[in-house]
Amino acid sequence: MLSKLFKALSRSRSTIADAFKSLAGKRVTPESLETLEEQLLSADLGFKTVESILDVVEHHSKSNFIEKVGEHLVSLLPEKFSPEIFKKPTILMVVGVNGTGKTTSAAKLAHVYKKLGQTVTMIAADTYRAAAVEQLKIWGNRVGCHLVCNEQTAEPTAVLFDGLASAKANQSDVVIVDTAGRLHTYTNLMSELAKMYRVIENRFQEFEYRSLITMDASLGQNSIIQAKEFGKHVKLEGAILTKLDGTARGGIVFPLYQELQIPVEFIGVGEDLSDIDPFDPEEYVSGLLGLKDHD
Ligand code: GDP
Repeated sequence: MLSKLFKALSRSRSTIADAFKSLAGKRVTPESLETLEEQLLSADLGFKTVESILDVVEHHSKSNFIEKVGEHLVSLLPEKFSPEIFKKPTILMVVGVNGTGKTTSAAKLAHVYKKLGQTVTMIAADTYRAAAVEQLKIWGNRVGCHLVCNEQTAEPTAVLFDGLASAKANQSDVVIVDTAGRLHTYTNLMSELAKMYRVIENRFQEFEYRSLITMDASLGQNSIIQAKEFGKHVKLEGAILTKLDGTARGGIVFPLYQELQIPVEFIGVGEDLSDIDPFDPEEYVSGLLGLKDHD
């Protein structure tokens, strides 16, 4: 059976693996390398990664270079991520531009940690988007976790405060916060986020916290620009790369790590709660190159 990730990478794979197939069994020439370069760049692997791939191909042109390319690509990526039980109560701040899959990812994370046996509270702090709160209520019911929202206020920090007080009273192990995501260029959004972090640091010191940014893989290089902007204001511990299914831009995972040093922790492979995979570089590269399915 094909894994969800392998299926999700099918469009990226047809660009990347096809680029290599056109070279297989032929003599590597400057022209064929140029064609390969163009094809790989179109899959959003980024210039640096593509140049390093060409180098590997040139050096192994007589042998089976695809395996060597695979090893090289794995070496460029962050390590395998395995979600673990949090020993101390932990807040996961899910940040990102609206539409990148923030709310859906918050619910998927709740599902992941619930399955690990942790008690989870979700906080619907995306007060600028009424639909996000409604959506999270539905997800919260499906996951079977505690949800804190307040439709009477437009202040994300107020909802966060109430939510953390409630999570503390309930002794939740994990608190997942769907933050506001109106355009990242709005200084008011960034100052609202800063306010949220101040509340955590000043009033809820018993919680550790981490911030994960949702990045829509189908936006390609634009998602890198978004992450850069957020990174100026928020310390980003990891990324959730969403909507990998249905895009040919799966190569974006390379510039994300090389340029921003943000490791991908999770991959979104569909719209349902279980459509999330912890990041595994070997599985990912196999999926991109069509080497083998790890399921
Ligand atoms: P938000 O505005 O950032 O909170 O984004 P949402 O969570 O509301 O997601 C926006 C749209 O993207 C919704 O239609 C989601 O179902 C969809 N979506 C989110 N993650 C994924 C994913 O991994 N794959 C696919 N195909 N769709 C996704």
